[in-house]
Amino acid sequence: MRRIRVTVPGESLGVVEEYIPGDGVLESGGIITSKYHGILKENNNRISVEPFKKHIFPPRVGEIALGEIRGADRNSFLVHLVAIVRPRRGLLAPPVVATMSKRPANLGVRPSDVVLVKVESIKGGQVTVTLAGSHELGVIRSFCPHCGTPLVKGVGFTLICPSCGKIFLEKKISSKYGWNPFRDGLIKYVERKR
Ligand SMILES: [Zn+2]
Repeated sequence: MRRIRVTVPGESLGVVEEYIPGDGVLESGGIITSKYHGILKENNNRISVEPFKKHIFPPRVGEIALGEIRGADRNSFLVHLVAIVRPRRGLLAPPVVATMSKRPANLGVRPSDVVLVKVESIKGGQVTVTLAGSHELGVIRSFCPHCGTPLVKGVGFTLICPSCGKIFLEKKISSKYGWNPFRDGLIKYVERKR
């Protein structure tokens, strides 16, 4: 299972000593940054960004969204919402920055976890999301904090690192763990060239 990395404009992707800049990136002072919201592609050591094609409008309360945990503060997690999965389907461009409170149902996630969340409230432009509710809400992809390998689902609510064998019990795992809405074609995101 390959990790999909969603980039935002201006995000630093690497340095010219490591990579050859391809399409959809800018190089300045040896630093390579993304030009688009899109998907990072690596081919040998050439990196490029394929921009998202289909954009939709702001999320609505009650919708199910795909997001990535990007950070945390004292009371909440920072979640970048990149797509609406249900009932509408499409990309959020630019990604919507949401917060998710550190209530028990939401605990256990860490930055880089990919999550299915429900939009809980939108007040004054501030979007809050939650993992509480149906079985599909929760972590759909997670990576070993020790070695970076994608974790696989074990029995019940366990995730296992196939590389170093560590077991993780603390996350709310989605019934769709491992599902990739991009690869399955549920969300058409790539601007087809060639
Ligand atoms: Zn590991």
